[in-house]
Amino acid sequence: MNAAPAAAALNPSLALSLLFATTLLLGLALKLWLATRQVRHVARHRATVPAAFAATIGLPAHQKAADYTIAKVRFGLLELAVGAAVLLGWTLLGGLDALNQALLGWLGGGMAQQLALIAGFVLIGGLVELPLSLYQTFVLEQRFGFNKMTLRLWLADLLKSTLLGALFGLPIAALILWLMGAAGTLWWLWAWGVWMGFNLLLLLVYPTFIAPLFNKFQPLEDESLKARVTALMQRCGFAAKGLFVMDGSRRSAHANAYFTGFGAAKRVVFFDTLLAKLSPGEVDAVLAHELGHFKHRHILKRIVSLFALSLAGFALLGWLAQQAWFYTGLGVTPSLQLLVPALADTQAVPNDALALLLFVLVTPVFSFFIAPLLALFSRRHEFEADAYAKAQTNGADLASALLKLYEDNASTLTPDPLYVAFYYSHPPAGQRLARLGSA
Ligand SMILES: [Zn+2]
Repeated sequence: MNAAPAAAALNPSLALSLLFATTLLLGLALKLWLATRQVRHVARHRATVPAAFAATIGLPAHQKAADYTIAKVRFGLLELAVGAAVLLGWTLLGGLDALNQALLGWLGGGMAQQLALIAGFVLIGGLVELPLSLYQTFVLEQRFGFNKMTLRLWLADLLKSTLLGALFGLPIAALILWLMGAAGTLWWLWAWGVWMGFNLLLLLVYPTFIAPLFNKFQPLEDESLKARVTALMQRCGFAAKGLFVMDGSRRSAHANAYFTGFGAAKRVVFFDTLLAKLSPGEVDAVLAHELGHFKHRHILKRIVSLFALSLAGFALLGWLAQQAWFYTGLGVTPSLQLLVPALADTQAVPNDALALLLFVLVTPVFSFFIAPLLALFSRRHEFEADAYAKAQTNGADLASALLKLYEDNASTLTPDPLYVAFYYSHPPAGQRLARLGSA
């Protein structure tokens, strides 16, 4: 065997390992730096309520928000460290390769082995995250009075979501794996179509079949609120199938309202926690904000950009899956039959599940760097929805509703501006109220 081609084949593999490790380290350093800034900034402003809020927010609420924010950022660092260790464990340290080889020895190389690899990967990942999730709910959220879940409900949720994940996830994984093997070089285009159809189907069945498995939805009964909300929706030219109240208080004290569904099946869902906290005028203003997202086509824009990004992702995966260095550079030994033309005649073991899992593992390491751009678009949309709500209802109602929600959710009034730029999908309270002309 000639040494030169072997060396040439090694180079892109080594280059990928180095690129991956360097990008991962850069991302970790950046996240650590941002977290440190946020903690320092919030702690520095903990002693006094900002002047603009001095009349509306008490010092205890301000300090609770500061403590909650800092506790969440610190917990985020723990999650970050665990996540990075798990990622390295799967890839460069050989975890995925070991799982793959073990399953190949046990099941041979076929669809059953590939599905077992994906299921095993998801289960192991889930088990690692379990203690973190328990800590978050029963220690962190509990300490600040937000958790309303019992351990029993938490376990029931876990069981239900695992079963649903298997029910929906395994067939779609099998279909995509089958396309990867059977649909030729353009498999990724077919797989993208299937994946998009699957996502649309989920959006369609979520409000009527999935959400009711976790929460109770009752038609809004408060007649005067109902009349008020219906009038608002008519004024905005918006038809919905129903107004529902959800028992969000079963799990958490955090309050919210949202729309789900498509076309005529759209429904408006209020958390019971939201109705308990806001006056009718404020509920109207929050709903008008959500209607603003529809009027400005934010949801459509989000779905379209998700479709476009997925298409780019599948195209990239279609190419990467054919490159031996994509596997070896990330700590996995692929079967070479389908990657090296000279070996094409021998019996082939597909690498498709490996390619999918590596892609899912590694993409976030690189895509993190466009997070500020996505967050910027999201914050711009929030301002647009606020402006719409102000025009349709009452700016003062929206301002007081937002203030209550920020206070009840213990969102800090004094976040670090750079941290906001990277992570915040919603602008901080100060900016939103300033734009509404009441801070
Ligand atoms: Zn919004």
